[in-house]
Amino acid sequence: MTTPRHPSSMVPLLAVFGLAACSPPSPQTDAGPSAREVEAPAKPDGNGIDLIVHGDYIVTMDDRLTVIRNGAVAIDDGIIVAIGASDEIDAEYSAAEVLPADNRIVLPGLINGHSHAAMTLLRGVADDLELMTWLNDYIFPAEVEFVDAEFVRIGTELACWEMIRGGTTTFVDMYYHPDVIAEVVESCGLRAYVSATVIGQRSPDAEGAQDSVTKGLAFIERWQGRNSRITPIFGPHANYTLNEEQLRATRDAANEAGVPISIHLSESPYEVSYSKENYGTTSIDFFDSIGFFDGLTIGAHVVWPTEEEIPILAERKVGVIHNPTSNMKIASGISPVAAMLQAGVRVGLGTDGAASNNDLDMWEEMRLAAFLQKVDRMDPTVLSASTVLRMATSGGAEAIGLGDRVGALAVGMRADLIQVSFDDVHFVPTYDVMSHLVYVADEQDVASTVVDGKVLMREGEILTVDTARVRREAAALAGRIQGALTERNR
Ligand SMILES: [Zn+2]
Repeated sequence: MTTPRHPSSMVPLLAVFGLAACSPPSPQTDAGPSAREVEAPAKPDGNGIDLIVHGDYIVTMDDRLTVIRNGAVAIDDGIIVAIGASDEIDAEYSAAEVLPADNRIVLPGLINGHSHAAMTLLRGVADDLELMTWLNDYIFPAEVEFVDAEFVRIGTELACWEMIRGGTTTFVDMYYHPDVIAEVVESCGLRAYVSATVIGQRSPDAEGAQDSVTKGLAFIERWQGRNSRITPIFGPHANYTLNEEQLRATRDAANEAGVPISIHLSESPYEVSYSKENYGTTSIDFFDSIGFFDGLTIGAHVVWPTEEEIPILAERKVGVIHNPTSNMKIASGISPVAAMLQAGVRVGLGTDGAASNNDLDMWEEMRLAAFLQKVDRMDPTVLSASTVLRMATSGGAEAIGLGDRVGALAVGMRADLIQVSFDDVHFVPTYDVMSHLVYVADEQDVASTVVDGKVLMREGEILTVDTARVRREAAALAGRIQGALTERNR
């Protein structure tokens, strides 16, 4: 998010506002049809189902980390109806659509637990600057002038395109104009928690905290139960951009509506010292003391929990989202992820906004999460490949309260899964498929992406986002942002 006006409070915002315009992408012609043009193939008769996805390996990410060699996943009405050996699935079912194995690895779709999707439009607009220069000369001017419903629509479409391409199937978003975000998610086919952002100052879609809560409740009412893939939630920004009364009011509103909360939590040394000065105690302890964790809370970052606060996170079942790239790029610090996992805290992974990352690549988050923790602890045995893959799938699903629906491949779960191509030379040879998924794979290796049983990308072709139009619109908007900033900073 970008709007807090206190200088130090901007640190997390950096993550959000960042970059747009240095070299706007040139229009290309990678056309894709609009969502409405994609129709589900007709089901065959008999034991006909919607979709069968084959894989040389099926990495289920169930509790026992079962991996099935030459397997398949059978899907009907958005749900996994069978999983097992390919020949057995083929003998039992006939599907309207089939994704063949061909050197493909099947695993659950990745779960990005913290994003500000529309900030893709500010990708690379300004990096590596002293904080206040960056904010005052680039971010704030761009935000004040350009963040409106249209900006959010184009930026979120761009993000959905990137996430589908990179194998992310669920994301937890915090930005302005949540109705627009939800509409884009509805059309692109991803699964998302969409936050009504609450911040104690004027923002692009509200006059202040009270106004954001009121508008947030109306947004939640419009979207609750409307589409099973979209969960409207509240996203209070942080405890330095909202006071105690405003935080309590947001928690009450969330509980009244029966929705979770996503919030920046113990992200920076600034936040912790602000908390001590203003609330008399460290950040997590303060939130606990006002009953803020009475209801599902998704805490982004959690870089600076004290030793005493880690058990609070476990006990209150706070879902912690680790954002290693953003924490490194804006020098927030190193989150004690291994210690939190050991204490039973539910920990997932996220990218944060594209201003502090600068992409939405969950594969990179997995790799950096592992490496950062190993070097921090000077112990290569912490955060193994399977532990990190769990954080990006089933562990992330548990952290955001969706562990019984997505994050693992098992009968009865929603069919959110991906095929990763092992064609590239960097997968040769393959001794351990889980090692390759964490230490080798990139966004570009994802071949197909399926959410709720619907194929959103097939062999690299994006089916639900009009990519040519989005590329054109993003480039045009970036050009206007760059022009305005150049003029301003001349
Ligand atoms: Zn953030």
